[in-house]
Amino acid sequence: MVCDCCGRKKKLFESFAAVSYKQAQMNFCADCNNLAYKVRDDANNQNSNEYEKHIKEWKKREKKPSDLFLAWQKEFLAPLEKVLKKEDAFNLRNPKKQNNF
Ligand SMILES: [Zn+2]
Repeated sequence: MVCDCCGRKKKLFESFAAVSYKQAQMNFCADCNNLAYKVRDDANNQNSNEYEKHIKEWKKREKKPSDLFLAWQKEFLAPLEKVLKKEDAFNLRNPKKQNNF
C-alpha cells in the first residue's frame, strides 16, 4: 500500500488513513493525513497564515499524487478557500488588523 499523496510505502506497523472518494478508496500516510486535517482546521479557524503555511508543506509532500488524490484535493480545498476568502476581503479593508500592537 502506498500513500496517495506522497507515494510513500506503508511500513509494517504504520497505520494509513483510508479516505473514500467517488466509490474509490485512497490511502494517506499519517503525515499527509495530519496536514489535511491541519489545513481544514486552519480554514475553519480563519487562520489564513497557518493555512498558507500548511498548504505549502502539504504541496511539498505531494511527490507522487494519484489522479484520484488531485481530484479529491481540489474538492476538499474549494470550500476551505471560500471560507478564507471572506477573511481576506476583511483584511483588505482592514490591512492593519493583525499588526495592531
Ligand atoms: Zn503521505
